[in-house]
Order: sequence, then C-alpha cells, then structure tokens
Amino acid sequence: MWREIIEEKTARIRREGKERFFTQTRDATETELMWQGRRLLNLASNNYLHLAGDPRLIKAQQQAATIYGAGATASRLIAGNYELYGQAEQMLCNWKQKEAGLLINSGYTLNIGLFQALCNRHTLVFSDQYNHASMIDGVVLSRAQLKRYKHVDMTDLERQLQKADPDKLKIIATESVFSMDGDVAPLTQLIDLKKRYNALLIVDEAHATGVFGPLGQGLVAAQNLTKDVDIQIGTCSKALGSFGAYLVGDAWLVNYLKQTMRSLIFTTALPPAVLGSIIQSIEIVQTADERRLALSEKAAHFRESIQEAGFHTYRSTTQIVPVHIGSNQAAVQFAKHLQANGVAAIPIRPPTVPENQARIRFAVTVAHTKEMLDEAAHIIQRSHERLGTVR
Ligand SMILES: *Cc1c(COP(=O)(O)O)cnc(C)c1O
Repeated sequence: MWREIIEEKTARIRREGKERFFTQTRDATETELMWQGRRLLNLASNNYLHLAGDPRLIKAQQQAATIYGAGATASRLIAGNYELYGQAEQMLCNWKQKEAGLLINSGYTLNIGLFQALCNRHTLVFSDQYNHASMIDGVVLSRAQLKRYKHVDMTDLERQLQKADPDKLKIIATESVFSMDGDVAPLTQLIDLKKRYNALLIVDEAHATGVFGPLGQGLVAAQNLTKDVDIQIGTCSKALGSFGAYLVGDAWLVNYLKQTMRSLIFTTALPPAVLGSIIQSIEIVQTADERRLALSEKAAHFRESIQEAGFHTYRSTTQIVPVHIGSNQAAVQFAKHLQANGVAAIPIRPPTVPENQARIRFAVTVAHTKEMLDEAAHIIQRSHERLGTVR
C-alpha cells in the first residue's frame, strides 16, 4: 500500500516539474563553485558579504573547537551553555541595541519555536503572503489562526485587522527583505498598524542582516525603527557566513521565550566552533560599510542589465534578483541551460512561490566583479534567445 501511494506521489511531483535535486557542491564559498565536477559562476549562495570562507571566521572556529570540543554535548539548559553563548548574546544585544537576545540553532527552528511559544488556537497571526516557509510552519504548528495578507499590501492587512475580534491577541509577521522577490517590507506602515491594533510585530531580517544598516544590523535599524519592532529575528548563516540564528527584543519578552521555546529547550546547543565564528562575524560586519556599499552597487548594476535585456525582476531593490520565467518546466529548462553555459542558478518553483511565477533567483555577493555579472547577464540573455522563453 504505502509503496504504491508514495511512488505515485513522487511521480506526480516529477510530472509537475517540481522535482528537487541535491547537486553536489564544492568551493561554494567562492564566486565560482564546483557543481558535479564543473566550474560555474556562483549566483546561488547567500554568502552576500563573502564571509563564509573568510580566514578569520575559519580560525575562530578552529580555536573554539580546540578549547571547547567539537560538540556541545547537551541542550543549553543542561550542560551545553558555553561561555561563548553569553559572549555572543551580549555582542548581539549591543549590536542590535536591544535589551535581550537569544541564539537559536537555525532560522527554521527559531520560527518553529517562536510562534509555538507565543500563540495558542485563539491567537491571530497576520502574515505576508510571501513569508518564508519557516514562519508559516511555525504558525501552523502553533495552532494559531493564520491570516495571510497580500504581499506588502497594507490596505489588505488593515482590512483584515479591522474585521478581527478586538479582544484576540494579534501578531503581524513579515520579512524585511523578502527572500524570493528581493523587495522590502513597508516597515513604517506596519509599525503604524501594529500600534493601532495592539499587535506584536515580528520582523525576519534573514536577508538583511549584515547587508543593511549603518553597522549591518538590518533594515529595521537602517530605517531607525529598532524600538518599534517587538521581535527582530535573523540568521547567522547568510551574510554572516556562519550558522545559527538570533532573536532580539525586550527582556520581558525574551525571558519568556527562554522558558517556553521548545526548539531551544529540546535540542542540543550549537557547536562551540559555530559560536566562535558568530562572535567573529558580528565583529567584522560592524565595520563592513565598504562591502555593503560595493554589494549594493553591484546588485544595482546586475539588476539593471537584466532589466535592459527585457526581463521582469519583480520588485527587487536588493542583492536578490529574481528573473521571472513562468511555468515550472520552463524554469527548470532555463536553469539547466544556464548551468550548461557556466552559471549556477536554481529554479524556484511553487510552493516556494505562487503558481505560474516560477523564476530563477540570482544572489549577488560582494565578491562578484562587474565583469562576472556582465558575463552572467549575457548568458541569461542568450539562454532566453535560445529557449524562446516568454518574459
Ligand atoms: C533562510 C531563511 C530562514 C531560515 O534560516 P536558516 O538559518 O537557514 O534556517 C528563515 N527565514 C527567512 C526569511 C529566510 O530567508
């Protein structure tokens, strides 16, 4: 029974052009990566500030492992709470200018634990339609009522807030830089709405951490809104080049989360080496203004050349540049063609994005040169001409 059912499901995924593959990777911390034995231009990583291969981070990991060992051996509440945690969380709070902070094992598990800790089945969570799967999964597991509003559409959000029971506890959840469209949330308006409707505002800065803000704190700090966002979260695995995730907020809130987040309590702590590199990375990003500026210039250059070639890049204004393709099959074919011509890029398909909005998502990093990006734009243009993709 099981076997036939599962095989039929797998066949359907394949028929719909939604099959996913692991591609064996090497050297992914560089501008070129080895994919299945071939050297390709790497526009597929989140290594925005080129820190994942930074010798200072690697050294910090090695030192921490030498002192503390390879594994944390237990949960933070048992024996895994290394002094590096205290050090890293103190740095985090200073950097983000918030009272309290917590490191969690990954952005995914953070979102899973966060909503579970805050919600019950009476809670209403208003979530941008394009929020990351980890937030959606967190809300679903928390049994809260999920209310999705149209992407960055404040009229739709307000309409739903108005309709809602005023006595119910409410959360508004958004990304700051959206991971699939590369556009940004209207934070000021979200803050206005959260105040008027007494909601808690959660902002996921996964793709903004390190990249925006005077010290790389993210988009919330860049727009001077730190005190009005209740919970900021982000990952240490993208621009910070390491692993793990963080949340910051007021002490009354973070202390409660410490008591109640199951994805913090019931899992082994981060390896000491990871903590070592997080500390090193937070130190580096605070003085990485030049890298941030160069990244934004390079991303703008790439985006413009793609647009000049006639492609739709959604509302991207950041280092994430999506190129609209349409059907799943066309996106897969396009990505394969790019790979055959030297560019590593991944087709993004439903359910990650809406139906008929399959796309190729390019991520520019500071290490890409203008020549590399021009070459990539050229290859994208040529692939389009070969394949006759509808733009
Ligand atoms: C990548 C990402 C996550 C997950 O973070 P990990 O540390 O990789 O688990 C969460 N939220 C958003 C918006 C992301 O882009």
